[in-house]
Amino acid sequence: MTAQIISGTEIAKQIREELKQEITELKEKHNLIPGLATVLVGEDPASQVYVGQKEKASLALSIYSERHDLSADTSEEELLSLIDRLNKDPKIHGILVQLPLPKHINETRVLYAIDPKKDVDGFHPVNVGKLMIGEPDYLPCTPHGIQQLLIRSGVKIEGSEVVVVGRSNIVGKPIANILLQKKEGANATVTVCHTGTRDISFHTKRADILIVAAGKPKAITADMVKEGVVVIDVGVNRIGKTAEGKAILAGDVDFEAVKEKAKAITPVPGGVGPITIIMLMLNTVKAAKLSAGLA
Ligand code: NAP
Repeated sequence: MTAQIISGTEIAKQIREELKQEITELKEKHNLIPGLATVLVGEDPASQVYVGQKEKASLALSIYSERHDLSADTSEEELLSLIDRLNKDPKIHGILVQLPLPKHINETRVLYAIDPKKDVDGFHPVNVGKLMIGEPDYLPCTPHGIQQLLIRSGVKIEGSEVVVVGRSNIVGKPIANILLQKKEGANATVTVCHTGTRDISFHTKRADILIVAAGKPKAITADMVKEGVVVIDVGVNRIGKTAEGKAILAGDVDFEAVKEKAKAITPVPGGVGPITIIMLMLNTVKAAKLSAGLA
């Protein structure tokens, strides 16, 4: 069996078209323009790329976009005061603080300072709690994107054995939570593995759907999966550089070998990455609608 390749790029395009229409309607019928503020502290090259992609995606959708690039020595107080200002700004519906922050800034304090109604990343404890009880305003972008990749590729989630490798707060735990909900596009039996799991293969081999967010190249090899599995590879690992100095990326799954056994698989790049960015746009539109009482 050679796997169907689940293209995040293509599915993100579909969602972008749907959002374009929604944004036009919001403007025409309600004079409402969704607004997103991105905040970057320091000059981490990967973070600069991510913020640039988010800004580009906002502009392409005519979302009002504000970028705040702060120097690496910005104090926590200065950052908190910017967040306070953005919390109060009616043009801004979503605030995204790019992580990681420099070591002298308390990341938790900063994330907690964002108004939960503007927390389009879905990382504030209020939004984490709402997700947990099945009443989310915002789903965090990467896990929501993963769910959309599965649904829009026609993968049956309900009743499936889903195995998640990784238990981070931004991917592993929320995707497990989302697919566990007694809802359409979910209702799966979910197992979460991590470095404390005794026999990871025992679990991964049982998976109908395997979601890997470990941050380790080739953490999953072909002998660890069953024939016909659907694999979502979240990992982004820089494994070298091209002659031109561009990073060579790989996921967490041994793609070439696993695609021979899988029914469907996401590539890296071009899988989870593009869908994550479009889900941020979707959350920004939702935030604008919530602010206007339209959602
Ligand atoms: P993280 O915070 O480092 O968490 C990694 C998780 O994987 C931890 O729970 C860890 O277990 C577990 N783990 C690591 N190695 C393992 C192994 N060999 N077997 C089983 N479990 C293992 O990472 P993250 O933030 O979730 O990100 C994971 C990967 O996804 C990274 O490569 C990241 O760059 C990528 N990512 C991509 C996107 C995107 O948009 N494409 C978005 C977010 C993240 P312990 O808890 O026991 O340490």
